[in-house]
Amino acid sequence: MARYPESFIHQVQQATDIVELVGQYVALKKRGKEFVGLCPFHDDNRPSLNVSATKQIFKCFACGAGGGVFQFLMQSQKVTFPEAVRELAGRAGIPLPAVATSPDADRSLSPEVLTELCTFAARFFRDQLFSEAGLKALTYARGRKLSDESIRRFGLGFAPDSWEALHAAAGGAGFSDRQLVSAGLVSQRDDGSCYDRFRNRLIFPIFNVAGKVVAFGGRVLADDQQPKYLNSPETVLFDKSANLYGLNWARQEIARSEQAVVVEGYLDALMCHQAAISNVVATLGTALTERHVRILSRYSRDVVLLFDADAAGERAAVRTIELFLTQRLNVRIATVPQVQGREVKDPCDYVLAAGAEAMKKLVTEAPDSLAYAWSRRSADYSRAETLAEKRTIVEDFLRLVVSSATYGVIDALRQGLLAGHIAELVGLSPREIADQMRSLARQVGRAGATGRVGASERAVGFSARAERWVLEVLLNAPELFGQVRGRITPAMFGDPALRAVAEEVWRLGEADRLELAAVLGASDSERWGRLVTDLQITGEKRGNHESTLAEATEDFHRRQRREELQNLKEQGDTDKVALMRKIAEHARQPDPRRRPRLS
Ligand SMILES: [Zn+2]
Repeated sequence: MARYPESFIHQVQQATDIVELVGQYVALKKRGKEFVGLCPFHDDNRPSLNVSATKQIFKCFACGAGGGVFQFLMQSQKVTFPEAVRELAGRAGIPLPAVATSPDADRSLSPEVLTELCTFAARFFRDQLFSEAGLKALTYARGRKLSDESIRRFGLGFAPDSWEALHAAAGGAGFSDRQLVSAGLVSQRDDGSCYDRFRNRLIFPIFNVAGKVVAFGGRVLADDQQPKYLNSPETVLFDKSANLYGLNWARQEIARSEQAVVVEGYLDALMCHQAAISNVVATLGTALTERHVRILSRYSRDVVLLFDADAAGERAAVRTIELFLTQRLNVRIATVPQVQGREVKDPCDYVLAAGAEAMKKLVTEAPDSLAYAWSRRSADYSRAETLAEKRTIVEDFLRLVVSSATYGVIDALRQGLLAGHIAELVGLSPREIADQMRSLARQVGRAGATGRVGASERAVGFSARAERWVLEVLLNAPELFGQVRGRITPAMFGDPALRAVAEEVWRLGEADRLELAAVLGASDSERWGRLVTDLQITGEKRGNHESTLAEATEDFHRRQRREELQNLKEQGDTDKVALMRKIAEHARQPDPRRRPRLS
């Protein structure tokens, strides 16, 4: 993705007034130093949105949304970061910088040109489908119960049974072999000659979110042919770990219904759309990735994964638990149920056999991923006769959560919520669950010999309080950066989210450009906006910046000594341990210059 130079982003930010910007979308009233209005990010019935002219941020005290000018535009208008930057630059009359290109960059392989080529190819395939040669493909599509209206609407096509058809047609239209190769439409033989990638297949054009064709998927017409599905390779236009098939048709309905449904195949998605269930997208031959989820989260926080009958299993549940843990989304799981007297393998079959209403009900009632994972154990649990058996089943379930690669990186608050949620599912007290998870997390951390697991275990183990305090202070009083510079480093932050903020704060601080707006402009994620504004506001409320910073710095160093001591102990270096302990004791002597500790 083209990224504008930091100086340009800064210039645009400086030229934009947040009160004026937000005021274009929300009616704002002045209250004291700030402006308030109804929050556009949740169903607000009293003004919860605060906009600060002095700090140039917005913050909703009800739903937590927050950020600077870019975040506001991105979240309210569902645009990407570069789009928000361009839009605000345009409003401020700042010319866009020339996009840097390498000297030998071939303009003929630019995304614009390759998009043109894909559009050409889509038209070619479509014309083929409605020609005599395409009759068998058209018959096949109709046989799969796609209506003619859908076939046209979704741009289906047919790749003729030929090594040359598209290659020749595109060549005739002036496209070069290099362009065809770059767009993934032809493959090259060792002698340099080219042949069509898609042959004798029903073609599904793959669109980007703006509705432009960027790639293709092809399905065989006879089930004995292999592979059954063939997609374009990754190209400059197409990245399958970020592309969701059908998002161009689904995004409005996803935002409106506040729910996104993810299926596995194009036909599953198309059949849902045909049945007027329009909030459905498909992953393309890959499991749902974090990037997919991040894209969906721009439109909705509720994501339902709909798997083929029985194919989902444990692995899918584990994966989605990870996504659910990191992305603060409500990720739910459903599998396609059987329908009496019909063969139902996938969502496509299910819509046809059971109808749209049944499909909607399935989606609405889908349990969240934790409940799903528990449901697979709950029968065993209720059948278990001894307490020990029951405990083993619960522990097994908790281990699944705790050993998920992402558990260690979630903050204490979220871990508490998670424990509460599990407690409810399992029917034990949240405290009991939290204790058990803590001890399991330690075991998991110890069992894994890699640094990564060790680091995340550390993150679970200690309070992130000092880490938050340092950032809270620096976001409010950047002039105090000199006091921590050289004494604390971002690498000392255990919480990954806070460490990311620290890295940005330190980078800007070293360059003498530390200020809230610059930190906010450093990332395009919604979470970033929330976190940074949270830190700033909490810090502002607490005040006492200098003493808070002194106390937090001391906490950091105490923790570091403790870790060093622990390491030495593990190495069995008893002399040094004794020495370190003495140093630590000395450090505990009260320092008359410091105010009494609060905790
Ligand atoms: Zn809100």
